[in-house]
Amino acid sequence: MSAIERPQPKTGVMDIAAYVPGRETAPGAAKVWKLSSNETPLGPSPAALDAMEAARAHLEHYPDGAATKLREAIAEVHGLNPSNILCSNGSDEALGLLAQTYLARGDEAIFTEHGFLVYRIQTLAAGATPVVVKEKDERADVDAILAAVSERTKMVFLANPNNPTGTYLPVDEVRRLQAGLPKHVLLVLDAAYAEYVRRNDYEAGIELVSPSDNVVMARTFSKIYGLAGLRIGWMYAPAHVIEAVNRVRGPFNVNALAVAAGAAAIRDRAHVEQAASFNETWRVWLSKELTKIGLRVTPSIGNFVLIHFPDNGGKTAEKADDFLLSRGFVLRRVTAYGFPNALRMSVGLEEANRGVVAALSEFMSN
Ligand SMILES: *Cc1c(COP(=O)(O)O)cnc(C)c1O
Repeated sequence: MSAIERPQPKTGVMDIAAYVPGRETAPGAAKVWKLSSNETPLGPSPAALDAMEAARAHLEHYPDGAATKLREAIAEVHGLNPSNILCSNGSDEALGLLAQTYLARGDEAIFTEHGFLVYRIQTLAAGATPVVVKEKDERADVDAILAAVSERTKMVFLANPNNPTGTYLPVDEVRRLQAGLPKHVLLVLDAAYAEYVRRNDYEAGIELVSPSDNVVMARTFSKIYGLAGLRIGWMYAPAHVIEAVNRVRGPFNVNALAVAAGAAAIRDRAHVEQAASFNETWRVWLSKELTKIGLRVTPSIGNFVLIHFPDNGGKTAEKADDFLLSRGFVLRRVTAYGFPNALRMSVGLEEANRGVVAALSEFMSN
């Protein structure tokens, strides 16, 4: 008999460090700029809000459990077959469903040292074992990932671009990764920031999923679509994966407002284009200005930048964070991601971007 006579969580659960979301407040500051969770400063498409308004007339009805209208809209915009799309309550849920469907005790899931924290959480929650692989120059290293594959490996998680670094693997590297994996290992490409990327050698994953049996792409409406609060994600996967995950997911996992708003949001291509181009302008500006004041910025292609503070001299990320908070700028500490002396900043509105650069310039010269 166990020493503690009360219900015990299954193996792995108590090893999980619960996810700590980005802060929202800056006590004492007159105006607060939340730059801690990579949300868009431009908000959602007005069409999405209108669609929600219409959908709220029938909240007494269960939503369409197959999220048909949303899948059709996604399929139309991306040129996909809707039957290869599965929608979820945020892409976090999609990642969790994949882990629950494919990982069990004794199995291993691989991700990289600065990879998204949810991969570890979902691996442990499924009872499986996380295998963490070193990166090279703050970027996923395909050779190191392949070298970590064992006979227990069932899944590889790769955020591309990655959060919190903003770095990416070109499509030929992702193909090399897929080609090197045993056929039974599922490669999960998390392309949460794909809409922001403007690189000819980047591919979110659609072209990799279609011809193979072991690649899944996960996407979200939380970033460029500005609908983080509604929780909408989706995956594009081979039919056999969709069929398996559909057995595990809750029957009504995407709510009626999310289905309506998501379908309208993804069809508003002008809004997406505007958000991407706004982001490009300000991410480039931020990287340049922060470098000028002596801070190292990891080259990012996402809607955020990772700012590194000097190793000596006392100008630490922790102190910078306090200084910024006192002025109302809420950035993200990234110690849990293996960067104790860096801050991640989401690209904000002009006033916020200029404000952070001015504040950090003052901080560094004090
Ligand atoms: C923000 C983010 C997501 C999106 O999560 P949602 O659950 O869809 O809000 C997924 N993956 C990564 C790497 C992210 O940074």
